[in-house]
Amino acid sequence: MTHLVNDPANFAVDMLDGFAELYSGYVAKVPGGVVRAIAAPEGKVAVVVGGGSGHYPAFCGVVGPGFADGAVCGNIFASPSAQDACNVAMAASNGGGILFITGNYAGDVLNFDQAQSRLVASGYDVRNLYVTDDVASAPVEEIRKRRGIAGDVPVFKIASAAAEAMLSLDEVQRLAIKANDYTRTLGVAFAGCTLPGADHPLFTVPEGHMGLGLGIHGEPGIADAALPTAAELAEILVNGVLSEFEGSDLKRIAVILNGLGATKYEELFVTWGSVAKLLKARGYTVVDPEVGELVTSLDMAGCSLTVTLLDEELEPLWCAPANTPAFRKGAAQYATNKRREIVQVTDAEDAMKASPESHVVARQGFEMLSSVYRMLAAAEQELGDLDAVAGDGDHGTGMVRGCLAAVEGAAHVMDEMGGVGRLFVHAGDQWAAKAGGTSGVLWGNALRAAGLSLDDGSSTFTPGEFAAAAVAGIQAIQTLGKAQLGDKTMLDAMLPFAERLEAEMKSGTPATAALRAAADQAQAAALNTAGMTPRIGRARPLAERSIGTPDPGAISFAKIVNDAAEFLGA
Ligand code: ADP
Ligand code: MG
Repeated sequence: MTHLVNDPANFAVDMLDGFAELYSGYVAKVPGGVVRAIAAPEGKVAVVVGGGSGHYPAFCGVVGPGFADGAVCGNIFASPSAQDACNVAMAASNGGGILFITGNYAGDVLNFDQAQSRLVASGYDVRNLYVTDDVASAPVEEIRKRRGIAGDVPVFKIASAAAEAMLSLDEVQRLAIKANDYTRTLGVAFAGCTLPGADHPLFTVPEGHMGLGLGIHGEPGIADAALPTAAELAEILVNGVLSEFEGSDLKRIAVILNGLGATKYEELFVTWGSVAKLLKARGYTVVDPEVGELVTSLDMAGCSLTVTLLDEELEPLWCAPANTPAFRKGAAQYATNKRREIVQVTDAEDAMKASPESHVVARQGFEMLSSVYRMLAAAEQELGDLDAVAGDGDHGTGMVRGCLAAVEGAAHVMDEMGGVGRLFVHAGDQWAAKAGGTSGVLWGNALRAAGLSLDDGSSTFTPGEFAAAAVAGIQAIQTLGKAQLGDKTMLDAMLPFAERLEAEMKSGTPATAALRAAADQAQAAALNTAGMTPRIGRARPLAERSIGTPDPGAISFAKIVNDAAEFLGA
């Protein structure tokens, strides 16, 4: 339970405000996150970390000399937007190139990849690395699909120390990749976590049990086991983490025993006693271990064990000094504590000329979006519950937040007498920027693509053009998300919808009847995803658990097109 909340929807923003106020000597707020308050040497590679909020000290707590240059901070458990990542990276840049490091989650990958291409287009040298330390999230043969949990910390730390040593971007990237390859984590949960404002946890663990292989977004564990003693747990964690290192000659290791938010330090110390003994018995030398909270999951009870193999180049980087709000080691500071100049980024938006007809149609688009928003707000809990079965439970909040931002963006275009194309482009950009999560980026880009396909200068609009705009939006989702039919995503409702809509329009069905038929098709297809096994996205690690439950993104899409059809009188 999260007890201290003002407006739950603003929890992450309020959190960051308070944090930045408290640590104003360390960090400065910029749109989308925080950067170091103290200027770094010119030409130093900037290491920019990030992800959703709810994981403190990850990610804003490790910004400072010796550690990260900036942290991009999304909403609770939701990826920040590509725009947020661009803003933070530009403010954090020291002229030596940028390395983005985040955990390997679909939403983060989509947004940070997009940020990378935008920044590269503006002349920055940018590399991206996605941490894949969680042994429970995919078998070793599919190691690139693993998600990033507490192993983020040694990878961030080693890369940051390499940057601090003024190594080149190529070198910093190489060392970061090596650190990731040498890092493994296994975690357990004793109780789930509750999103601010929610009245029940994202998952529960039966009394006297633990979930093995938890995720840090309230994804439940992959297997249930009886609650062991601390010593027995130490054995499970040590065996699980070390099994993939058998055969390596490296015997010096960095170790983190990480608490997830509601496990006491005393319990961690009890467990550490056994962990340390077991590691020693296996011939390992533990170097500068950390026991405490480094990557949390709101108020989840549980812990994880991370091990990074250290060779002669990684060890000094792991041990190098750092001075940040939540992680301090040795004496890391610059001779001159000159404050960094914060570059103010503004969103420039070029106004488009719209015909009066286009503005009239935009009004209808605006009303339709508002209707969809009201429908989503009423379905928020239902969509969240669907997502909690095998995902992280945020699909309802993400869709509602995104659609609200879209409506607000659309209202702005209406005030400026904009046309229908610009209405959807701007609504989409706002959706992607504010929703967070995979579905947010995908929906945002879909609306943007749909808007771009409509010509605001035109004085006539045919139903066929709107059908084509809808199809363009769906294609954008396919291009960006790279999902296939049958992967159990929103596309499994979208593609049948698009196909039916095109077929009905082609055979001369009146537009509203065509939309009705396509929306019914989407509804049937969405329900049909219940039988599928997820092959992509956050639900994949818990694929089995998802069978029997329809895909949340497919259901929300069906609801949206049904609402749109009703709105248009179909
Ligand atoms: P997150 O997975 O980041 O928590 P949401 O919970 O809001 O985001 O959305 C989950 C939905 O996103 C899934 O139900 C699925 O329909 C959709 N999704 C995930 N990955 C993809 C993808 N690559 N392509 C299309 N849809 C996807
Ligand atoms: Mg989700």
